[in-house]
Amino acid sequence: IEQSAYQNDKLAMLGKIAAAIAHEIRNPLTSIRGFIQLLKPHLAQLGKDEYSRIILTEIDRANDIIYEFLNSSKPSAPMKQKVPIHSLLKEVILLSDSEALLNGCQIHLESYDEELAISIDVKQVKQVILNMVRNAIDAIGEIETQRSGRIDIVTRRDGRDAEITIRDNGKGMDTMTKSKLFDPFFTTKASGTGLGLSVSYRIVRNHGGKIRVSSNPGEGTEFNIYLPLAE
Ligand code: ADP
Repeated sequence: IEQSAYQNDKLAMLGKIAAAIAHEIRNPLTSIRGFIQLLKPHLAQLGKDEYSRIILTEIDRANDIIYEFLNSSKPSAPMKQKVPIHSLLKEVILLSDSEALLNGCQIHLESYDEELAISIDVKQVKQVILNMVRNAIDAIGEIETQRSGRIDIVTRRDGRDAEITIRDNGKGMDTMTKSKLFDPFFTTKASGTGLGLSVSYRIVRNHGGKIRVSSNPGEGTEFNIYLPLAE
């Protein structure tokens, strides 16, 4: 799937605007957050715990959106470091395991070669995988029939690349969703930003890699990330 030059321009421009205003928005958000913390016990006394919880969650969401916008503007040259994929994936799983369990899914990791190493910007690539695992958790959460959620992460060598597969048995995608997947702002979620995959696409491309996706409605989704092996 190719992302057009137009989409990249859109992302770059968006990033500049975001960087310019993010600072101005973050400051008031931080002070609102502080005052809500102070109000929390008073709201609790009134039996309105959930008000402070909702306000805090929404402030955090606003901050997340700003953070993602900023990320999409970052100069794209990755700061590369040689790392074994297996241990990188283990760290990502550690970060998302509790969220997965809370949503009734289990994450399984299988590495055919635990020594397989890639030369990557660890922070950026972690963000890509974390984002895909979160999408998988969301997709499992959205299936109607009761089915236990399962996310498989598999790594293997594929020629001169390392292949990382992230497969879920969630709700899957129709053709329309698949065709828009990597567009900035495309989301089917009530509280989604639609930035995760467009930013991921850019990161992987800047590493000289590619992303493939296969998915069917009701059957689940599989993402394959290819990254060049370290020398
Ligand atoms: P967001 O998660 O904020 O919606 P993304 O760019 O990460 O933004 O994803 C865009 C859309 O792609 C999602 O809203 C969803 O419709 C679809 N999608 C991504 N990953 C999956 C998946 N594993 N299963 C089903 N749909 C997915």
